[in-house]
Amino acid sequence: MIPPIPFSSEIARFLERHHFERVIPRAALIDMDGTLYDSMRNHTAAWHRLMTEVGVECTRDEFYLYEGRTGASTINQLFIRAFGREATDEEKETLYKRKTEYFRELPAVKPMPGALDMLTTLRDAGLQRILVTGSGQASLIDRISADFPGMFEADKLVTSRSVTHGKPHPEPFIRGMQLAHVSPSQAIVIENAPLGVEAGDRSGAFTIGITTGPIPREVLEEAGAAVVFGSMPEFATKLPTLLLSLLTITKQ
Ligand code: MG
Repeated sequence: MIPPIPFSSEIARFLERHHFERVIPRAALIDMDGTLYDSMRNHTAAWHRLMTEVGVECTRDEFYLYEGRTGASTINQLFIRAFGREATDEEKETLYKRKTEYFRELPAVKPMPGALDMLTTLRDAGLQRILVTGSGQASLIDRISADFPGMFEADKLVTSRSVTHGKPHPEPFIRGMQLAHVSPSQAIVIENAPLGVEAGDRSGAFTIGITTGPIPREVLEEAGAAVVFGSMPEFATKLPTLLLSLLTITKQ
């Protein structure tokens, strides 16, 4: 008996749901925080410190769920919940700036273990790499080329400054596809956060969820991930097989 092709049921389900004949990956649209960098612990700590200071009752873990939103959107949402009103533009700007300062005070963020292996596999398989992040923080974006040399082109980045709508809106990933000159069936999205996964799936791309924090895999599946991996090293190890399976499987 011929063993089944790995990931065949996940890929078949994706093709069915999106009405694609097949996926031919030409570009990978890759999230930054919690995907390329092990930065979410620091982000949630900075957010929790900031919001507690301004009198918003919140837990640190809830900020994992908001990951991918722009800073302004997170501030606004919490203001509505805590104070029953939207944040002013000035409040959004001042508070996001302070959050950035608190983030900078924390120990330096390190690249996610396995991320460089993942990028190397993508490059060797001939896929373009496009960074798609809800962050506008210059400090991390500038580090990308130092930590992942040759993996990203400077003009092929989508940040909070390049879009009108942040994740979970699909605009950031659609913008990424435009930069890569690919259609949804030629793109894969690599994400760690529920809102990012939702944005990826809504953009039509084959969206891969990777759990790198406290969010359980079921949440990423419910958000629309075509396939979920338990860690970045696990994903990096299985990526060559997944890419081959994507090229092999067509809609039944
Ligand atoms: Mg992320």
